[in-house]
Amino acid sequence: MLSIQRGVNLAKHPPSRLNARMQSVLDYIEDNQSRFVDDLSEYLRFPSISAQPEHKKDIAACSKWIAGKCKEIGLKTEVCKTSGQPIVVARTPRKKNSRKPHYLVYGHYDVQPPDPLELWKTPPFKPQIANGNIYARGSTDNKGQHMAHLKAVEAYLKTGTDLPCDITFIIEGEEEVGSSNLTPFVQKRKKDFKCEGVVVSDTGMPSPKHPAVTYALRGVMALEVRLDGPARDLHSGVFGGSIENPAMALCQLMAKCRNDRGKVLVPGFYDDVEKLTKYEREQMAKVPHSDRAYLKMLGSPKIFGEPGYSATEQRSARPTFEINGLTSGYQGEGSKTIVPSYASCKITIRLVPNQKPQTILRQVKAHLKKVCPPSVKITIEGGHEGDPYLVAPKSDQVQAGLSALKKAFGHEAIVMREGGSIPIVNDFKKILGADTLLLGLALPDDNLHSPNEKFSLEQYRKGMIMSAHLWQGLGAS
Ligand SMILES: [Zn+2]
Repeated sequence: MLSIQRGVNLAKHPPSRLNARMQSVLDYIEDNQSRFVDDLSEYLRFPSISAQPEHKKDIAACSKWIAGKCKEIGLKTEVCKTSGQPIVVARTPRKKNSRKPHYLVYGHYDVQPPDPLELWKTPPFKPQIANGNIYARGSTDNKGQHMAHLKAVEAYLKTGTDLPCDITFIIEGEEEVGSSNLTPFVQKRKKDFKCEGVVVSDTGMPSPKHPAVTYALRGVMALEVRLDGPARDLHSGVFGGSIENPAMALCQLMAKCRNDRGKVLVPGFYDDVEKLTKYEREQMAKVPHSDRAYLKMLGSPKIFGEPGYSATEQRSARPTFEINGLTSGYQGEGSKTIVPSYASCKITIRLVPNQKPQTILRQVKAHLKKVCPPSVKITIEGGHEGDPYLVAPKSDQVQAGLSALKKAFGHEAIVMREGGSIPIVNDFKKILGADTLLLGLALPDDNLHSPNEKFSLEQYRKGMIMSAHLWQGLGAS
């Protein structure tokens, strides 16, 4: 890992010349805003939903489209096949034995399914601009965020301004389904991707007045539980009472996994959880938060969670056990008096440093099997997983990030943890030895993974400015 100095090497670049060059980059960004918004809007029209096989063609078209945009600005671009969805790799022009620091910018062009469609005010794949936001599935997660970096690099290349870093974009199409093909791909191209660090904008900031670098992420372990009872749905009047109801059994089973304050009841679950330090809790307290505003934004009646932790801590630094979906019996209009033949649920468990997904899966499986009644047959299948992530909040790269954010947003930046998962950051560390700098542009009300997802056009613009400054900070080593 190269050591990154803070700020710019003034001896090498006299301030006036540097300022003039940066100014032309910044001017380019301002002058092209409306085209940049049009480009994003076009990008958002692709229903690149990685979870649904019927969208394979849309995914392919979307990858080709973004690759075309990379080529247009002068990046050496490839659309790389994998056994899943293609990965777009685009490199800034560089000299053969370039001595500039090399950074990766990671993003993903796939999106979450838009369901339930009826809750969208405008169609998810027909982007609409209102109140300074662009509304569409994938706008903030993640098309808008990585496009901001692409536009900043465009500004350097199109104004003929020397980029202080060599940059390689890796834009994949399977982030929302666990990035299973990216890891072997990075492994295979390890030499090409050798770098000083990875820049990822796929997280958020508390508000434009509190720009933030994220230094920790939660991990994830997904699983599916199915309880089978009778061979077919039964008449609840004729047979009910003598045969177990799998839907009821599933509810009772789930109630034995987490108590009504959010504490997970699986034996051993908290064994590896690293305690929060005083410094971390102080930093977390700086994240602006009001329970009332938070509840209003989310439309929820009351704050929830284990006693002794703030809402900010609960949603970023504590593990969870969540049911994501429940399926059983009759769900159509009116009633149908049956004992359903089976019930199933999808679960994700959010993990914090240093919990390990496979250990947790083993513990959860053992617990479920132990508490499951013999009146149903239980099947448990593990799904995608990702380790939690933690980097030193005081590293040089984090400092360069904080400085770029301050320049773009005009406010002191903070370090924070985030509750989401980006499993690939751990693989970048394992395979390339590189830390990831998380510079999230999403705002708390962006509705990631929810209906009416949006991205603030001001965040988009400031994201480009931040990125432009970032390469100066990271390059001045
Ligand atoms: Zn996502």
